[in-house]
Amino acid sequence: MKTVIANWKMNPQSLREAEGIFKSIKKKILKLKETEVVICPPSIYVNKLSTLNKSNLLNLGAQDIFYQEKGSWTGKLSPKMLREIGASFVILGHSENRQLGENNEIVNLKIKLALKNRLGPIICIGEKKRDNEGDYFSFLEDQLLSALKGIGSSFSKKLVIAYEPVWAIGKASKKIIKPKDLLQIVIFIKKILADKYGIENLEKIKILYGGSVSPLNVEELIREGGINGFLVGRDSLIPENFIKILKIVEKQF
Ligand code: PEP
Repeated sequence: MKTVIANWKMNPQSLREAEGIFKSIKKKILKLKETEVVICPPSIYVNKLSTLNKSNLLNLGAQDIFYQEKGSWTGKLSPKMLREIGASFVILGHSENRQLGENNEIVNLKIKLALKNRLGPIICIGEKKRDNEGDYFSFLEDQLLSALKGIGSSFSKKLVIAYEPVWAIGKASKKIIKPKDLLQIVIFIKKILADKYGIENLEKIKILYGGSVSPLNVEELIREGGINGFLVGRDSLIPENFIKILKIVEKQF
C-alpha cells in the first residue's frame, strides 16, 4: 500500500471551498485500491470534512498538535481534541514550524503524544541546503534519531517519515530532487531505522517524499526513488492535479 498525504497548509480561506476540494477528490477516490490518501486541512475544517467522509474513503489528519495534553495553553489544540473530531494522522516537525522555533525535542514530545492518542505521526525531516561535504547526512540523522528518541519498535507500523528537503519545498517542479539522490537518502534513512528498530520492522515504516511534487515528477520519483508515497503541498489543493498524482501512484503496482 502506498500513501499520499495532502498538506493544505493555511488554505483554502473558506469552509465552502474546503468542502468543494474534498468532495472533488472523494469522487475519484472510489477507484483506488492500492493507495491510502490522507487529507490534512486546517484543523478548523476537520470536523465538517469528517461528516462528509462517512464511508471513510479518505483519511483526515491535522497539521500540528501542541506538546502538552491539556491545560492553560491559549490557542493550542490537543491530540485528543483532533482525534475526537475525526483526525487519525498528524503532520509533525514540518519545516515551516521548525522555522518558527520548533526544535527536535518539541517534535519528539509531539510524536509521543500523538502515538499515545492514536494519531499516526507524519514525521517531517529535511535539510535546509546541500553542501559538497555531505554534512546534510548527519543533520538528517540527528533530526530523525531525535524525533524517534524513546519510541520503541512496537510503534513502528504507525510511523510515517516524510523526507522534505527544505530547498525543494514550494519550488518549480523541475527544481526538485533527482530520483537517484532521493534513493540515496531513502537508503540512508532505512539504515538508521534498521539499526534502531531491527530489519524485521523496516518494511512497516513508510518513507514519503515531499517538496514540489506534481503530476510532472511523481512517476519517476515513485518508480526510482525507493519511497512509499508523497506528501503534497500546493498541488493537493488543485483537485485535477492531486487526482493525477494519485492515479500515477496507484498505477505503480
Ligand atoms: C510541504 O510543504 O509539505 C510541501 C510538500 O509543499 P509543496 O508541495 O508545495 O512543495
